[in-house]
Amino acid sequence: MNIIFLGAPGVGKGTYTSRVKEKYSIPHISTGDIFRGNIKNNTLLGKEAKGYMDKGQLVPDEVTINMVKDRLSQDDVKDGYILDGFPRTIAQAEALKEFSKVDIAVNFAARDDVIIQRLSGRRICRKCGAIFHVKNIPPKTEGVCDKCGGEIYQRDDDKPEAIKKRLEVYKKQTSPLIDYYKEGGNLIVVDANSEDIDSIIKNLVERLDSTRKSA
Ligand code: AMP
Repeated sequence: MNIIFLGAPGVGKGTYTSRVKEKYSIPHISTGDIFRGNIKNNTLLGKEAKGYMDKGQLVPDEVTINMVKDRLSQDDVKDGYILDGFPRTIAQAEALKEFSKVDIAVNFAARDDVIIQRLSGRRICRKCGAIFHVKNIPPKTEGVCDKCGGEIYQRDDDKPEAIKKRLEVYKKQTSPLIDYYKEGGNLIVVDANSEDIDSIIKNLVERLDSTRKSA
């Protein structure tokens, strides 16, 4: 089952994926994580992506598409994947159609005030990438990851100026994908406004399971 997760930055895609990927035994592919991994390892791709990411802009389509095409050619995705953060433009969606078939597109919908609250309070483990939130998902010990003991930090692009830019970019370049997949007939919409993550996950799993059965 090939699934893509759509929705504004900060809506919780990474958190939801980490909760459902084991259930379906398929890998989680986050383009943002791949870029951050490249930045950490100081690769050419990382150097190219960093300038865009720090400003809250999208990395150019060509670079991103080639990276995803390469990732989806690997063996572990033959039974499916959850793609989180890609596509983010219509051009990326068109390219994806050429090298992979999307079975289900999930749009996580939440109000702007909810998104801003989640983005500005989000914290990440530098070592394992686990996601926390100062209010909604606080770590047991401040600044320390519950899962691996790593240091928890705030992403540069989760700071106010970059958040503003990312939301503008989302509205202009990424939100048209909702209609794109609706017209394609494989969109499901999950209400992600609640702070009760368990209820969002329950709804998501029910919707994915019933879509899979009827496919
Ligand atoms: P994310 O972790 O998904 O919020 O992504 C962080 C940043 O990585 C974005 O603000 C973009 O700069 C870049 N990025 C991630 N995915 C894409 C994509 N599909 N297209 C272009 N840039 C991306």
